[in-house]
Amino acid sequence: MRLSYFCEEQILAAWLTLDEALHQVLSHVVSINETQILSIDEAFGHVLAESLYSPLDVPPWNNSAMDGYALNLENEHAENLTLTITQTIKAGELSELTLNGKECARIMTGAPIPPGANTVVMQENVERTGSKIQISGRITRGDNIRPKAGDIAKSQRLFEKGHRLRAQDLMLLSSVGIHKMCVFRAPKVAIVATGDELVAVTDTPDEKQIYESHRVGLRAKLKALHCEVTDAGILKDDQATITQTFASLAASHDLVISSGGVSVGDADWVKPALQRLGDLHLWKIAIKPGKPFAFGQFGACLFCGLPGNPVSAFVTFEQLVVPLLHKLAGESSNNEFVIQKPLNVKATLTTSIKRRAGRVEFARGRFIQNEAGELSVSLLPKQSSSVMTSLTHANCYIVIPAESEGLSENTVVTIQPFSLLI
Ligand code: AMP
Ligand code: MG
Repeated sequence: MRLSYFCEEQILAAWLTLDEALHQVLSHVVSINETQILSIDEAFGHVLAESLYSPLDVPPWNNSAMDGYALNLENEHAENLTLTITQTIKAGELSELTLNGKECARIMTGAPIPPGANTVVMQENVERTGSKIQISGRITRGDNIRPKAGDIAKSQRLFEKGHRLRAQDLMLLSSVGIHKMCVFRAPKVAIVATGDELVAVTDTPDEKQIYESHRVGLRAKLKALHCEVTDAGILKDDQATITQTFASLAASHDLVISSGGVSVGDADWVKPALQRLGDLHLWKIAIKPGKPFAFGQFGACLFCGLPGNPVSAFVTFEQLVVPLLHKLAGESSNNEFVIQKPLNVKATLTTSIKRRAGRVEFARGRFIQNEAGELSVSLLPKQSSSVMTSLTHANCYIVIPAESEGLSENTVVTIQPFSLLI
């Protein structure tokens, strides 16, 4: 039976907002402080347990930014010069021959500037005849030189402890010769699905069963967050089985994530198991889709009970579990954990949205950008938390504040684009 609006509002008043829930969840997270040394080939996505400093200048010497000719300009500017080529310097070669004012060196991109030279002229701006070059345009002293330490100075801090290493970070570390680094060990996360009706995608459902769909998505997302994942499979809705499985997973993991069985139905054993073996910290969050979401811990092992409906499981994972994992993994800036909010941008709504106030809503939408760069977004038609196509057809969430009583066409709304870059 549906609760009357009045009644639902009264109940929601006792529920946590998403921000309150997130702060409570994070207040229970103790970052992993065990460390390990990884090679640069293994370190992608791991969180640094030490700050890293450059052992050298980059570039290590003044070098040419162009294929061209290196020369020595005494004055700030010059034009109409004729010079004699006395040497050729390629990247990987070093010249010790000093240039005088009438000489130049043929030089390639990346090659060290020879002694006496302070400027490089692009080969496109030069006319060459035999061993002579003629420069007709105006050139300026210092042109096309990449100065020693212009990018990084020796001893400069490259990354702070708590930084998660991205591909470009590893490129930078490689450019200064750092190929081993101390990182926090990856979070160990166990996942488990609950439900008598569920069968693995590789099995055959009978007439009362459905395929289990959450674990594959959770595994993918957890791996993208560089966690070590244990997939404990599918559990029957049986209190003893659920309780024992949680107990054994909690002993060897930092976080256990279950899905389904977290509500108040007759087959919902997740909360009783948590209350029996550990502590249930919270489970009433005013988020749509998403309620119910249980959070607690078994001793030192954190626990998140995701809802059974797939869209709810997905949304709560992204909004609550992802920040938890960032903190657990040791991510910080200036030694302080900062919640990385999803990217929120503004878009004009092309459809109206009817709703009741009460819960912050992550409605699934599709945004497009017109040639002027303006964003518009439309609501996908089927918004039930059991409709997976609302997630697969969507490219963003439309974030509707809890107090909103509906939105009309052309309202400017907040959207959270799904990841656009890999
Ligand atoms: P529950 O929260 O266990 O009552 O589940 C709510 C709905 O989600 C039910 O229709 C379940 O069949 C469905 N459900 C729960 N877990 C899964 C899962 N892992 N895969 C697919 N559907 C699920
Ligand atoms: Mg169930």
